[in-house]
Amino acid sequence: MICDFQVSSLQFPLTSKRSKTAITSLQLPYNNMIESLVRKNIQQLKPYSSARDEYKGKTASVFLDANENPYGSPLNRYPDPLQEELKRKIAEVKQVPAENIFLGNGSDEAIDLVFRVFCEPRIDNVVAIDPTYGMYEVCANINDVEYRKVALDEHFQIKAEQLLKACDQHTKLIFLCSPNNPTGNDICREEIVKVIEQFRGIVIVDEAYSDFSEQRPFRLDLGKYENLIVYNTFSKAYGHAAIRLGMAFASTEIIALFNKVKYPYNVNELTQQKAKELLAEGMSKICQRINLILDERTTVMQAFAQLPLCEQVYPSNANFFLAKVSDANRIYNYLVDKGIIVRNRNSVHLCGNCLRVTIGTKEENTQLLSALRVYKP
Ligand SMILES: *Cc1c(COP(=O)(O)O)cnc(C)c1O
Repeated sequence: MICDFQVSSLQFPLTSKRSKTAITSLQLPYNNMIESLVRKNIQQLKPYSSARDEYKGKTASVFLDANENPYGSPLNRYPDPLQEELKRKIAEVKQVPAENIFLGNGSDEAIDLVFRVFCEPRIDNVVAIDPTYGMYEVCANINDVEYRKVALDEHFQIKAEQLLKACDQHTKLIFLCSPNNPTGNDICREEIVKVIEQFRGIVIVDEAYSDFSEQRPFRLDLGKYENLIVYNTFSKAYGHAAIRLGMAFASTEIIALFNKVKYPYNVNELTQQKAKELLAEGMSKICQRINLILDERTTVMQAFAQLPLCEQVYPSNANFFLAKVSDANRIYNYLVDKGIIVRNRNSVHLCGNCLRVTIGTKEENTQLLSALRVYKP
C-alpha cells in the first residue's frame, strides 16, 4: 500500500497521539542566501494588515473591527488569514511543522508567488525541465520572466549538471516536478538532491502526485535544505480539486515571504471547513482510494499496451500514464465523439503522438478501453 501518510508514520514514530507537540519548527542554519534572492521591493514591502491580522486573541466576543455584517451567520465573518487550525491538521498528516506550511488557492497560487517574491521582471530568469506542468511557463510569462527549458532525455530523466549549466547569475528558480506531468515518471531522486545542493537559488519540487509514488517525498527532508520549496495539493490524491487548496512546504523564512505577498484572505472559509472535515475523517478512506487507483493503473496500462493502436505505454508513478499511439490527433477526436476525453499531448516536446490518460473508475476505464478496441485506423 502506497500512501504518504503511511510512509511518514513509518519513518516518523513521532506521529503517535502522545507526541503531537513534537512537530516543531525546523531549525535551519543561519545563512542569508534567501534574503539575497528576494526582490528588493518585496524585502522592503510593508504588507497589508487585515483586521484579523491585528487582533489574534481568543477571548474577545464582540467583533466590530472588520466592517462585517453582524447578521447572516455562519459565513458573515472573514476567514482566518493564516488558516492556523487547518495547518495544524495538515502538519500532522504531512509530517511538516505548521510554521513551514503555506496554503493557497490551489498550487497555482504558490507557483505564481515564487515569481512575485524572487524574480525581477525582464532581469531574472528561471530554469525548468521540458516537458513539464504548463503553469510554470504561463506564470513566468505573466510575470515577464525568462523561462529556460532543459529537455528531458528519452527516459524522461535529467542530469543535474544539465540544469545547472542552463543557469547564470540571474537564475533565481529551478522547477522540478516529480512524478512529472505529463510524462508520469519519478525524476531520479539523486539528481534532484544534486540540484538542491549545488544551485545557489530556489529549487521547487512539485510533488502534486507523490502519493501515487514510492519515492520518498522531499517535504520530509525540508530541514536539510533552506532553498527547497515543495508543492502538494488537495486536487489529486485527496480528491478535492473543486475546493482549490494547494500547499507549499518551505523554511519559515520563505513561508513568511509568501504570507507577506499573498492576498489577505486567500483561502476562503468554505474551503478551510471542507479541508478540515476531510482530514477529520482520517486518512484511511483517502489511502483506500489511492490504492484502488494504483490497482486500476496496473490493469489499464497493461490492457492499453495490448491495443493495436498503442505503440508504447510509458512507466507511471502517478494517477495517469502517457502512451504513444499510432495517430494521437485522430484517436483523440474519435474518443471525443464518443464522449470520452483524454489529454492530447501530441504538440508537446518529446510527446509526439502521445495521449495522457487519467486513471478513472473501473467503469470509466472499461469504457475507454472498449471504445479503443473497436477503433479502425
Ligand atoms: C494538477 C497539478 C497541480 C495542482 O494544481 P492545483 O492548483 O493545486 O489544483 C500542481 N502541479 C502539477 C504538476 C499538477 O499536475
